[in-house]
Amino acid sequence: MRKFNFCAGPAALPQPVLEQAQRELLDWQGLGCSVMEVSHRSPEFVEVAERAEQDLRDLLSVPSNYKVLFLQGGATGQFSAVPWNLLGAGSSKAEFIHSGSWAAKAIKEARRYGEVNVVASSEDRNFSYAPAADSWQSSGDAAYFHYTPNETIGGVEFGYVPEVECPLVADMSSTILSQPIEVEKFGVIYAGAQKNIGPSGIAVALIRDDLLDRSLENIPRSLSWKVAAEAGSMDNTPPTFAWYLSGLVFQWLKGQGGVDAMAKQADAKSKMLYDFLDSSDFFSSPVEEGSRSRMNVPFVLADDRLDKQFLIESEEAGLLSLKGHRSVGGMRASLYNAVPMEAVEALVAFMADFEARKA
Ligand code: PMP
Repeated sequence: MRKFNFCAGPAALPQPVLEQAQRELLDWQGLGCSVMEVSHRSPEFVEVAERAEQDLRDLLSVPSNYKVLFLQGGATGQFSAVPWNLLGAGSSKAEFIHSGSWAAKAIKEARRYGEVNVVASSEDRNFSYAPAADSWQSSGDAAYFHYTPNETIGGVEFGYVPEVECPLVADMSSTILSQPIEVEKFGVIYAGAQKNIGPSGIAVALIRDDLLDRSLENIPRSLSWKVAAEAGSMDNTPPTFAWYLSGLVFQWLKGQGGVDAMAKQADAKSKMLYDFLDSSDFFSSPVEEGSRSRMNVPFVLADDRLDKQFLIESEEAGLLSLKGHRSVGGMRASLYNAVPMEAVEALVAFMADFEARKA
């Protein structure tokens, strides 16, 4: 039996997608073998790759002057790729908003290659909010400006897109495809797949054309967006199964009504959980109102000695992976696109019952 899965990533995948992959596993497209066992350069796989790109372009209304890349190394690979690809054309300075654990990792990696200026940080209140747009200023002379629109661990989501002079770079790993975005406001958008896109092993990057010629000298070939773009993301053997499965997710998403429908669902699902947290005397959200993520909802119990019991009982009730990240503790429910409303209803009912019994 499939259970309700709140894992932060690798995360729940749509059941129809898994069923299709299962049906096609042994004999894909009548070829007598699986999609994992054919050349990435075969016409059948090239069609999968091209269709996935087109569907992603359609879903996010990606303008034609952006490359869509399917890459390896996860979002962490892009923490390195961003400075390598952007710090070589004049300015060796990058600006960042420090909003939590993932921004911290991106900053740490960028510091190895250039000067990093943190223009805003929410460290003063334990990364429980997104710094407001009017609380910081960009210098205007950086090679790029990086932020993390949704902090997966802290559960903090930005309610605005930063307005800056230089190319805006966003790590959208845990928010991509959950809402419409204006791609033209960004120079670079990247995301690891294993939340709203597909299985782990692949990352997606949208790169504005004019940013392909700004790399540092001696950039490792495997990190170069230009090399990837020129090779159609096939400079070396790509993770074909992850690419195929991501393509199935894109088709499923289109069938569900695309990112507009996902945004409505995300609003409704997260509202139900936050409303419950706010009405409870026992559970609470550590994230400030106005910055609360619709994808990742951390929460704490009034008595953390009950954490273990909560996790045991929730697993028994068919609610998987509610443990918060090891760095912050507590609980976290991730509500990505493939997590249905019924999952949130079941979670809230379980929490209300737990509270009634234990509080
Ligand atoms: N950025 C964010 C916002 C993330 O949530 C994650 C993974 N949870 C990463 C980066 C790292 O991604 P990966 O494991 O694909 O390298």
